[in-house]
Amino acid sequence: MKHINYLLVALMAISMTGCKKFYQNQGSVFGTYYNIQYKSSSDLEPAIKECLKEFDASLSMYNQNSIIARINRNEDVETNSYIEEAYKAAVYVSDMSQGAFDITVAPLVNAWGFGFKNKENITKELLDSLLEFVDYKSLTLTEDHHILKSDSRTMMDFSALAKGYACDVIADLLTENGCKNFLVDIGGEVVARGKNSKGEKWAIGITKPIDDTTGKTNMLQDIINTTDICMATSGNYRNYYFEDGVRRSHTIDPRTGYPVHHKLLSATVIAPNCVLADALATTCMVMGEYAAAVMISQMREVGFYFILTDMEGELIVKTSNNWVKLLTGKDAEE
Ligand code: ADP
Ligand code: MG
Repeated sequence: MKHINYLLVALMAISMTGCKKFYQNQGSVFGTYYNIQYKSSSDLEPAIKECLKEFDASLSMYNQNSIIARINRNEDVETNSYIEEAYKAAVYVSDMSQGAFDITVAPLVNAWGFGFKNKENITKELLDSLLEFVDYKSLTLTEDHHILKSDSRTMMDFSALAKGYACDVIADLLTENGCKNFLVDIGGEVVARGKNSKGEKWAIGITKPIDDTTGKTNMLQDIINTTDICMATSGNYRNYYFEDGVRRSHTIDPRTGYPVHHKLLSATVIAPNCVLADALATTCMVMGEYAAAVMISQMREVGFYFILTDMEGELIVKTSNNWVKLLTGKDAEE
């Protein structure tokens, strides 16, 4: 009898794995696309949509009723686990970067015309007055799930890590549903696990940083075949404008109040989770290639792939020493 039971269990296991197939779910979230491929015994789209909806209702700057938007308006509203996890990751990266990354940068982002308000007439006085309440250290997460502000004008903007964090959340959802092979791509931030539908590693493109405000050009600098990885890219080649001959990008240095201006065109970061990869990719764009490389070398299991312009305006690539090891698990060949 026992043998028959074992046989039944084995047959059920075979038939269950046998009916697993690859699904692809696509859509839009926080003003960008999502593209999720996974091997599963059922279509998980309803659960994925529900999860993204809840995430959006928590952290999105595009949703005026999100919890974050309400905290920004000083309404008395409790945080939830999405906000608290994102907040903790943001504070960690702010501390690691000595304030180059700062989720309270929103008023500056708005003033420069990259947020939800029209661009203001920028003067030193205006920037100084905004910088008075740009400081992540003026926020406190309390045990009773509130974010306290020492200045009511301070606002939070999680845009720089929301896509990466959403990748982690969807990756967890897929894992909890028994998926071992999947690719979660939200606006270019990626979590890859296992193999693709051909049984191969996943092919992840790194976009060539060519100036294009339409976001339609997508020439690739590199295609990386890899798996079991969290990777995010930040660039200044899509969200920018020119003013009096000066290029203004959407990455703002909270220590000066100005959009950054240096030779680093895009930063791709690998990290143990995608929220960290996303926040760090933006941070690299704020810090520039030298300071960013020093910061990343102090972090375990984190690596970078930078695309810069050289003196002749040609694109060059610089990677951290551990880049190949992080992609392949093997040391780079001498
Ligand atoms: P993308 O993937 O589009 O390049 P990022 O992940 O780099 O985007 O995030 C860019 C957004 O981050 C900006 O639009 C702005 O809202 C926010 N931001 C800009 N500067 C900073 C900063 N210094 N610290 C944290 N967030 C920032
Ligand atoms: Mg980012």
